[in-house]
Amino acid sequence: MGGRPLLNRRLDGLGTTIFAEMSALATATGAINLGQGFPDTDGPEAVREAAVRALRDGRGNQYPPGPGVPELRTAIAEHQQRFYGLTVDPDTEVLVTVGATEAVAAALLALVEPGDEVVALEPYYDSYAACIAMAGGTRVPVTLRADPASATFRLDLDELRAAVTPRTRLLLVNTPHNPTGTVLTREELAAIAELAVERDLLVVTDEVYEHLVFDDAEHHPLAGFPGMRERTLTVSSAGKTFSFTGWKVGWATGRPELIAAVRTAKQYLTYVGSGPFQYAAAEALRLPDSYFDGLRADLTAKRDLLSAGLADAGFTVYRPRGTYFVTADIRPLGFDDGFAFCRALPERAGVVAIPHAVFYDHRETGAPYVRFAFCKRDEVLREAAGRLRKLG
Ligand code: PMP
Ligand code: GLN
Repeated sequence: MGGRPLLNRRLDGLGTTIFAEMSALATATGAINLGQGFPDTDGPEAVREAAVRALRDGRGNQYPPGPGVPELRTAIAEHQQRFYGLTVDPDTEVLVTVGATEAVAAALLALVEPGDEVVALEPYYDSYAACIAMAGGTRVPVTLRADPASATFRLDLDELRAAVTPRTRLLLVNTPHNPTGTVLTREELAAIAELAVERDLLVVTDEVYEHLVFDDAEHHPLAGFPGMRERTLTVSSAGKTFSFTGWKVGWATGRPELIAAVRTAKQYLTYVGSGPFQYAAAEALRLPDSYFDGLRADLTAKRDLLSAGLADAGFTVYRPRGTYFVTADIRPLGFDDGFAFCRALPERAGVVAIPHAVFYDHRETGAPYVRFAFCKRDEVLREAAGRLRKLG
């Protein structure tokens, strides 16, 4: 075929996702998988039963409507009102997608012209880079800086401001942030909103970890800030909140014109997502507050358990205020290349983790950090911590 590479240049270097690579490594070595972010226990039984019921009752076994089943769109609108006081029209301002992944992909394909710049927080979730590339856009990373004193990663608002140019089309925000566990504060979000309004930018905000916030951290949707309603596409999913990552039910909300644009791209990616799971996700969104509080309490304890284990093992631990990931600096253990460290870790300690470097354009900045998932049973976390303690 003329010696031309099969993979087009836009996808050059994207290879296999780190999650697939590391989960395969976990399977092959029998190591404890604290890499890919998925819980090792399923979500609420009532929600699982709702999916079974939908299947049996023949709801969603044939193509559901393109924008999503009305029951789910209504439940998403109710959820935005119940938790954030945001009013969303279920008929024109909600789009159901195949996970948050498809919502982000469709948004970037719909909203970005070749040559447009997309400003994203670095480290960035891996599909962002791929989808910006597929849309022909240019990624402009703004680095969240590790601050060992506060054990957090922080956004420098001046850096963000400086990253916006006349070619910037869109800000791609993620809070609570994977992989750092940073939860952007109300003040930071207000500054992002001001910048977006001042420079007339679109904002895609990935809020899949909206319910996974700890301590006194609060999640504030960017769409709720002044001037943001008309320019913000909010993305979330049932995967993280309800511990059914395999169902791949996600959604986007935003003003009708934005949703119509994203739906145009989405139609030709998947047309629709799985039907019965949409009915079950609708029931999940209506679970009582006790469910959401319980999830947070449970994950707070798991965060503390794994963080203490990592600190005991000699890592410098960054304290996540959201998500189910904890970041550790490997340098106190005498290592500095997170990639090499993670590739050797299953053999060396029987544990799988994810190197931060894959989420950076500035790979050297991310090199000493690795990410561990703590959405696992306590005994699994204890066993992993025990194994890691032998590293030092
Ligand atoms: N965004 C972020 C920040 C994530 O961590 C993930 C991972 N699951 C996704 C999007 C994808 O979500 P989904 O599984 O619903 O496609
Ligand atoms: N979002 C999950 C993580 O960050 C992985 C999802 C995937 O494998 N694409 O671990």
